[in-house]
Amino acid sequence: MAVDSAISSPLGPPACEKDAKALRFIEEMTKNCDSVQENVLSEILTQNAGVEYLQQWNLNGATDRETFKSKVPVITYEDLQPYIQRIANGDRSPILSSHPISEFLTSSGTSAGERKLMPTIAAEMDRRQKLYSLLMPVMNLYVPGLDKGKGLYFLFIKAESKTPSGLVARPVLTSYYKSQQFKTRPFDPYNVYTSPNETILCVDSFQSMYSQMLCGLIYREEVLRCGAVFASGLVRAIKFLQLNWQELAFDIETGKLSTKIIDPAVRDCVSKILKPNPNLARFVREECCEGNWEGIITRIWPNTKYLDVIVTGAMAQYIPILDYYSGNLPKTCTMYASSECYFGLNLTPMVKPSEVCYTIMPNMGYFEFIPHDPSNPITISRDQPPHLLDLADLELGKEYELVISTYSGLCRYRVGDILQVKGFHNSAPQFKFIRRKNVLLSIDADKTDETELQSAVENASELLKKYNTTVVEYTSYGDTKTIPGHYVIYWELLVKDPSNGPADDVLDQCCLAMEESLNSVYRQSRVADNSIGPLEIRIVQNGTFEELMDYAISRGASINQYKVPRCVSFTPIMELLDSRVVSVHFSPKAPHWTSERRF
Ligand code: AMP
Repeated sequence: MAVDSAISSPLGPPACEKDAKALRFIEEMTKNCDSVQENVLSEILTQNAGVEYLQQWNLNGATDRETFKSKVPVITYEDLQPYIQRIANGDRSPILSSHPISEFLTSSGTSAGERKLMPTIAAEMDRRQKLYSLLMPVMNLYVPGLDKGKGLYFLFIKAESKTPSGLVARPVLTSYYKSQQFKTRPFDPYNVYTSPNETILCVDSFQSMYSQMLCGLIYREEVLRCGAVFASGLVRAIKFLQLNWQELAFDIETGKLSTKIIDPAVRDCVSKILKPNPNLARFVREECCEGNWEGIITRIWPNTKYLDVIVTGAMAQYIPILDYYSGNLPKTCTMYASSECYFGLNLTPMVKPSEVCYTIMPNMGYFEFIPHDPSNPITISRDQPPHLLDLADLELGKEYELVISTYSGLCRYRVGDILQVKGFHNSAPQFKFIRRKNVLLSIDADKTDETELQSAVENASELLKKYNTTVVEYTSYGDTKTIPGHYVIYWELLVKDPSNGPADDVLDQCCLAMEESLNSVYRQSRVADNSIGPLEIRIVQNGTFEELMDYAISRGASINQYKVPRCVSFTPIMELLDSRVVSVHFSPKAPHWTSERRF
């Protein structure tokens, strides 16, 4: 990277006084990154000095970085699970945090097939809100006039469950949209949504999407930006329009809301907005009836200046389809966050997706970094706490794994994200999101790792036993050309008795058996969100995986070290696999999923 682009420039000029204050805050935080981090750690350790988790490391009241780094181990979720389980079961003693745990945030990262539970405290909501409040002031620097219209955002809540002791467990965005901070947010001309709160807060994904799309169509000329949290959500919304435009147009024509919308709060608020509008109904029909979806976003919402969706990380696979739908509108990736902690924001949101960098705000938590060099991996042992790097120690161009300590009680917790330093804003590093460790397949919020895929294949192949058949090799592919996207698993079979091989319906059942084995986020996406389509198994000819190996070796892979890739995306390999397919099978029904989780 050129050195020049690593030099930051001050943010400005702000669009209004409120923005000026937010931008000053960003400047102050990023100029004083190291001292802010020192203070944050000291505050966390002071606040939580008496908690059981920290007491065992004998900090003896110390709140400085040196003592912390030399005594407290770097951990993963599995290390924390016994503590989390006790909190879930009702132990209200100060285990991880001196503040009461207000709820659990359920991560899309899973452990033993269930969403990880992240304890949080009430004060964290304000910290998240603070980060949200910085987004529009930055956006306003690049796109003027956003106070002259509305944002069409497809936002959703998900089902929540309760721990045995009655604590709520739900995704962080569900928690945020249901919070007073969101529901009673003061009017801000720069942040007016087309979707009334009631439509966002409807837990039924069809009714929520339908009513949000309807409002988006009604206000179509006022819409200045379209978005969803992740790219997959916006792609799904357009697919929804493709499937439901006739009914939506009918509602608009008659001014009467579809009887499929039964949620009283949604009916009430949408009915106030919906008036008979034959011209708009005709327009929607004309735009949609020919089945031409190229540029549909800019045709329906002609004043859209940008798409507000995350297209970094696993979401990059949706860039081509969003470009197709929007005629290449800019795609802004405004923030980088997780259930564990909200990390930071993109200070130059109009750059190309490949150039997106996130600046971690040093006030959000205490951040440490494990140098990530696959050729020289560092062993992290629990017994000997490693000396990790601070935000202020990072070098341009290097990759790091993120480790966080939060006010809610996570201490030196490995998030699993790999980041690369691409520049600095003042003294704060700006990171490119490289990838999440151990994720093989991801279509929406789901994250399937190699072990999960392996055990799903093993479970499904049990069904083949009575046909004297085994799966000799397999690989996978996340197919996002279909909407919603779906998992494709390539199987090479050894059928020992071809006169009694597995019939098509057995292989269809294998698809379902695989889905039943996958984690709860996958199954929820299949069942409740409809954001993943039925799993597909493609049976390939015998010898295909040997050809795959020959191909890899011809491209320089070592014959001794060759391992079958468990996920593929490289076009020539896909073409080879697809040219050897002998039969194709889909899951005949949705797998089992309920909002009640195991604790
Ligand atoms: P969750 O645990 O479900 O809250 O998901 C958080 C994870 O989503 C992060 O640790 C990242 O791996 C991923 N993520 C969040 N924001 C972004 C982003 N802006 N770009 C890429 N990946 C992201």
